[in-house]
Amino acid sequence: MKKEYDLIIVGSGLYGCVTAYLAHQVGWRCLVIEKRSFVGGNIRDEVREGINVHLYGPHVFHTRYQEVWDFANLFTRFNHFRYCPLARYGGKMYNLPFNMHTFYQLYGTQTPEEAALRLRQEQGIYPHPRNLEEKAISMVGRTMYETLIKGYTEKQWGRKTTELPPFIIERLPLRFTFDNNYFNDRYQGIPIGGYTPIVEKMLEKADVLTGTDFFEFRAQNADIADKIIFTGMIDEYFGYRLGALEYRSVRFETETLDCDNYQGNAVVNYTDGEVPYTRVIEHKHFEFGKQEKTVISREYSSEWAVGMEPYYPVNDEKNNALYEQYKKLADEEENVIFGGRLGNYKYYDMDKVIAAALEQLDRIV
Ligand code: FAD
Ligand code: UDP
Repeated sequence: MKKEYDLIIVGSGLYGCVTAYLAHQVGWRCLVIEKRSFVGGNIRDEVREGINVHLYGPHVFHTRYQEVWDFANLFTRFNHFRYCPLARYGGKMYNLPFNMHTFYQLYGTQTPEEAALRLRQEQGIYPHPRNLEEKAISMVGRTMYETLIKGYTEKQWGRKTTELPPFIIERLPLRFTFDNNYFNDRYQGIPIGGYTPIVEKMLEKADVLTGTDFFEFRAQNADIADKIIFTGMIDEYFGYRLGALEYRSVRFETETLDCDNYQGNAVVNYTDGEVPYTRVIEHKHFEFGKQEKTVISREYSSEWAVGMEPYYPVNDEKNNALYEQYKKLADEEENVIFGGRLGNYKYYDMDKVIAAALEQLDRIV
């Protein structure tokens, strides 16, 4: 007998929304189930004082994939924002990512040659870095590691840098040019009008149930779709039967200030261990806002516990090994496909989420 839906998509984050859009294109009937009271997952933004406020942390779209850029541009136009966060440490400001400005601010070096020489004196020898600390020192030297990386990373991840995998720090560029662009990708920007209109467009043709937890829904509505795409936590799907995976959570303290420009930049990272938050986001600067007021968010990191929002998978050895066991269960689960940051337990950026969803749908269609 034909079922009511071809596809149930659990989660209305970017992965779920892209999938819903693509599934409609091939004529599938989709139901999206979202436990929050609104759609968009972690890319959701909301207008306050005329400013798009990124509810789940600063989101800058960037990609080197032409296909992903073209796809995103079906739903929005992007502004010319370039992400150039600053770091504050011990009462001084530094440019990020690690570049000639940063070398000058830390060491007084003025040419690439001087900077490279100084770095060589600092780098230590780790031909095969085993953890984030060794990787960071071998990349940028000990002084820069201690000023810009150690405190921030330990706050963000709640673990010593010696207990974290090297790949986390490889996300950041190291350059011998005076270039503060945080990303090397060819394409970058903030969607004009925000992220929420994008996901709403993607979901236009799908049925959407918000405020609905999949597990409760399934108990009442078994067998109403041929396939399920699950973008929630993979360990929760299996009732944590092999043990719980670890996640980091984030909390934001957001306030509206009666001034038009609080910090002069979209993001300032606080890289010492003493300041309890990791960064301060001033949302209007993502869109070159000229409003009279401003909205800022202080971002605090914490360990995830049941009932909190999981933000970051902790991709260390122990958790990756546990994930691989869950993945085996997932591969055996008939007609259920796991996707997205939580379903694949991967530290995906938005462009990787889109690429993965495009590829996955190609495969199942
Ligand atoms: P999510 O957005 O987490 O969506 C999953 C959805 O599933 C959620 O809405 C959740 O409520 C729902 N759900 C879960 N379980 C259930 C259930 N049982 N029943 C019903 N619904 C359920 N990427 C970039 O490219 N650039 C950036 O600048 C950037 N900045 C970031 C900053 C922060 C602080 C964080 C945490 C991430 C950032 N990212 C950034 C990554 C980006 O947020 C993700 O790539 C993207 O949002 C992941 O989409 P998703 O659909 O996989 O997951
Ligand atoms: N990082 C750091 N100092 C900074 C910014 C980042 O040490 O000022 C480290 C930190 O470990 C972080 C990693 O670099 O987890 C990757 O940074 P990115 O900005 O990509 O993290 P995101 O917030 O996107 O997860």
